Amino acid sequence: MEYHNKEVSAAATALRKLFEKTDDKRSVLRAPGLAALYDRLKTLPNSAQRAAFGKEVNQLKNELEQMVREYSVPKVELPAIDVTSPFDVNQSKPKLLPVTDGSSHPLMSELDKILNIFGRMGFTAVESRQLDDDYHMFTSLNFPPDHPARDEYDTFTTDEGLVAPAHTSVMQNRFLKAHKKDLEAGQAIAAVVPGRVFRNEDVDARHEHTFYQLEGIYVDKGINAGHLIATLKAFLEEYYGKTLEVKTNPFYFPFTEPSFEFMLSCPFCDKKGCGVCSYVGWIELLGCGMIHPNVLKEADIDSATYTGFAWGGGIDRLVMMKYGIEDVRNFHSGNLKFLRQFS
Ligand SMILES: [Zn+2]
Repeated sequence: MEYHNKEVSAAATALRKLFEKTDDKRSVLRAPGLAALYDRLKTLPNSAQRAAFGKEVNQLKNELEQMVREYSVPKVELPAIDVTSPFDVNQSKPKLLPVTDGSSHPLMSELDKILNIFGRMGFTAVESRQLDDDYHMFTSLNFPPDHPARDEYDTFTTDEGLVAPAHTSVMQNRFLKAHKKDLEAGQAIAAVVPGRVFRNEDVDARHEHTFYQLEGIYVDKGINAGHLIATLKAFLEEYYGKTLEVKTNPFYFPFTEPSFEFMLSCPFCDKKGCGVCSYVGWIELLGCGMIHPNVLKEADIDSATYTGFAWGGGIDRLVMMKYGIEDVRNFHSGNLKFLRQFS
């Protein structure tokens, strides 16, 4: 491709060289040399100049995109190994693929953004567990033994009676207990708990047996449902980068009283109705409420003095809505075509 404009032509030569040299071929699309052309475009004085310059810059971008698309990673010949043998039995050790072939999983890079927002709002992040016990999954959260709500969580259990957590609320009692002294010293308890959770679900486009959840808790003197709604709204507006409307519907959870289903105006259609919101304009996003006094008592916190709120929702869901991803199964499919769109 020939470019008439000198600046575009010089940038094209430099960017082609960069493409040859770099291992991360996609990086050429993010190169400062390309971005500088778009900045230059804005400074041109008249519209005819802008149109001619803009056309060539777009042609260059298309050329680079085509180069990235058509580039195929040279095949790495890996020695054959017996995958059924113990690691040290294989004569040749498995060779690792170069790290440049990989990228951050979209759920993990979005989780970084989510934790960054809550970090700026004063929340500490605590990681959840992938194996826990009945006490932390249910009893400490005001699910008495044989309570029917236990069945709704469709938990997996091990032969030893351990539980694969179905929500990251398993950390709630631990965190409340650990920070009771700080609370009494005047410091609010504020934490978000991301983690992998498991439910015995029939898998379809909207349900997975394994997904990621984010729980949040906040406890202090004089906390009410207004604080809960304002916190979630502030987070969602920052995450989706736009003004949103929210509303709550009454709901039931054993660990909160009152409990709510938290609804968000559809970030895609601004309540006009679209496929993402099933044409109702609102999306049921997560469950939340004021922490039940029994849950505070179980953590030895004086529920007459302190109140707090909690919420829990799927991280997969937030990310699906942000990017218009229609099938939750994409996240765990290992489908490189899907994953590379986020690299
Ligand atoms: Zn919609």
